[in-house]
Amino acid sequence: MAIIRFKALENIMHRTPVKVVAPGNNVSEYFGSNVFDKDTMSKFLSKEPYNSVMSAVESGQQIDRKVAEQVAASMKTWATGKGASHYTHWFQPLTGSTAEKHDAFFDLNDNGKAIETFSGSALVQQEPDASSFPNGGIRNTFEARGYTAWDPSSPAFIMESSSGKTLCIPTIFVSYTGETLDYKAPLLKGLHALNEAAVPVCQYFDKNVTRVFATLGIEQEYFLVDSGLYNARPDLAMTGKTLFGHSPAKGQQLEDHYFGSIPERVYAFMVDFEIESFKLGIPLKTRHNEVAPSQFECAPVFEEINLAVDHNQLLMDLMGKVARRHNFEVLLHEKPYAGINGSGKHNNWSLCTNTGKNLLSPGKTPKTNLQFLTFFVNTIKAVHDNADLMRASIASAGNDHRLGANEAPPAIMSIFLGSQMSSILDEIETKVTKEKMTPEQKTDLKLNIGKIPEILLDNTDRNRTSPFAFTGNKFEFRAVGSSANCSSSMVVLNTIMADQLKKFCVEVDALIAKDVKKDEAILRVLRSYIVSSKKIRFEGNGYGDEWVKEAESRGLSNIKTTPLALDAFVSKKTKEIFIETGVYTEREIEARHEILLETYVKKIQIESRMLGDLALNHILPTAIKYQNLLISNVEGLKNIGLEKETYNTPILMIKEMSEHISQIKKLVDAMIEERKKANKIEHAKPKAVAYCDKVVPFFESIRNHVDKLELMIDDEAWPLPKYRELLFIK
Ligand code: ADP
Ligand code: MG
Repeated sequence: MAIIRFKALENIMHRTPVKVVAPGNNVSEYFGSNVFDKDTMSKFLSKEPYNSVMSAVESGQQIDRKVAEQVAASMKTWATGKGASHYTHWFQPLTGSTAEKHDAFFDLNDNGKAIETFSGSALVQQEPDASSFPNGGIRNTFEARGYTAWDPSSPAFIMESSSGKTLCIPTIFVSYTGETLDYKAPLLKGLHALNEAAVPVCQYFDKNVTRVFATLGIEQEYFLVDSGLYNARPDLAMTGKTLFGHSPAKGQQLEDHYFGSIPERVYAFMVDFEIESFKLGIPLKTRHNEVAPSQFECAPVFEEINLAVDHNQLLMDLMGKVARRHNFEVLLHEKPYAGINGSGKHNNWSLCTNTGKNLLSPGKTPKTNLQFLTFFVNTIKAVHDNADLMRASIASAGNDHRLGANEAPPAIMSIFLGSQMSSILDEIETKVTKEKMTPEQKTDLKLNIGKIPEILLDNTDRNRTSPFAFTGNKFEFRAVGSSANCSSSMVVLNTIMADQLKKFCVEVDALIAKDVKKDEAILRVLRSYIVSSKKIRFEGNGYGDEWVKEAESRGLSNIKTTPLALDAFVSKKTKEIFIETGVYTEREIEARHEILLETYVKKIQIESRMLGDLALNHILPTAIKYQNLLISNVEGLKNIGLEKETYNTPILMIKEMSEHISQIKKLVDAMIEERKKANKIEHAKPKAVAYCDKVVPFFESIRNHVDKLELMIDDEAWPLPKYRELLFIK
């Protein structure tokens, strides 16, 4: 075994950066060249069908058959012209990755002649044999069909691989009976609800607003590891994380990696990966080293949320593919290494109108600032009222390891506003009165609201420890896990926002009906929200232990594990919101809850099996062999007649090793017993709880013994690449 580790280490010595050639001098020359975007569509499609696609996208209405035929024909011409031989509906089932099933454009016509064809119906809908995708009991085997349906709001694209090209059509995925089985459909439904709720609010301020949509910019953190070392670590290959590994002498304590210079091989990977992303229209803008060794981050320019989520899914897929060309593997796991930072995915979220106004960006006048404050305060209120649901939206086995650990937000939901915005809210709280305000009071308040833009410009306090922070013109949800489909958290955020804005309108309208002036009515309702959502605001260090205590005294939840966090997803309140907004039906909510629990169980089960396998079949044999070596050493020393002191040390080592060996065996056996018990539990929730409470605790105790052995055993005999080898890229 040890041989694989050393071969891998030797191979690294011979690695050189792969040469990367860009298809053009400037990105603008090839950006989006593999995307059937608006421009391309307008070139390949006549004006009438083009306009009807565009208006259908705007209004969310269906595209009629005739237009679909024309679009399909133009897509085929474009895609085959670029060398694509196949097409696929590209969708996001609840497995967490993307799915595709390729069909050839090639067909035989009635005369048996080979032709290239792509019909409108093939564009609009497919029926993948998808009975093996997670469905939470929705899909009985006798009705295993599912449908994928074209989402014209996300443009089709061509995926290139070394041996061919495929036209990918973004689609939603639903069951035969109409329930959604993917991430995209609820995202689109939530956006619809958000639009319906936000437009009337905007109309208090600006009658020209007819559409509101969410925008999203996703900062993606990841680790890179040499592929040889990765393959020599079955735990990395099977679970995406290391289950064992003693901390290296040098970790991230010198803080020399963050924003440090990027190693050559990594740089080549990044350039290559960016080129591939640009071709697919993913507007990557930044790249840099992260805090932990071998940890990096990339971020695109923000986009409309549906596209941003699609692009992030595509990007994760692309990263892995391109990395392999450079002899790297990408680790998207939330916590690949113990004792070192985990990875997250900051979701920078805002709302935008058809008139181009960012609703979370202060304006130039008191009136536009009141609009800004309205959306700002409603967001705080929505997150406050649904904090547990927000927590549930980021729950996963991987994120459980990260939340509350090194440089990661805790499992407590709180909101950071910055001192200036906090004091504006305080001012509204004290100055807005329940009774009619005097003209002086109003002027005073208006003056202060009018000051917001300049205040925000010199807002320099940038809190990095809050799970949900206001960063000048957007909120940043930072607790999202690095491997997550952002749709999970964004569906929740958009939906609770829709629900909140609806309530806001009802309250404001009720006051207006009582002859309160509009601005004053708005301010009064905002004031009541500021007061009732106060406890979620926190400006201090979110990583500190004091915060955990304070949060508890404020009555904020701190739900540390996924099986319990997910309860909020099926609470009465959540169900009402989801059903009321039309985002999920009750059956869909129940099914999703079940799928999330099942996924949790599967992940932990795989980790547990892998851990047992590594401990019993890799670590213990290595330890016993080395122990035998020590035993012969003792015997040898004894035989040549040396006195006892000379072989005291090997004897002590043998004893210490025996202790670890027997503990490992005992703990693994006990863990397997607990796993067996858990497997017998039928229902998803108690099963997940059993895995969480009874199986997971063994991971750390077994690991402790293994990591001790790593320190004792001859380096040349150790089978697994060590942290110091995995973490520092040469
Ligand atoms: P940071 O200082 O946190 O690194 P940046 O200002 O570079 O943040 O932005 C991070 C992300 O936020 C980028 O993807 C950026 O495009 C995105 N972003 C900026 N404005 C908005 C907005 N209005 N809506 C959504 N995302 C935005
Ligand atoms: Mg950020």
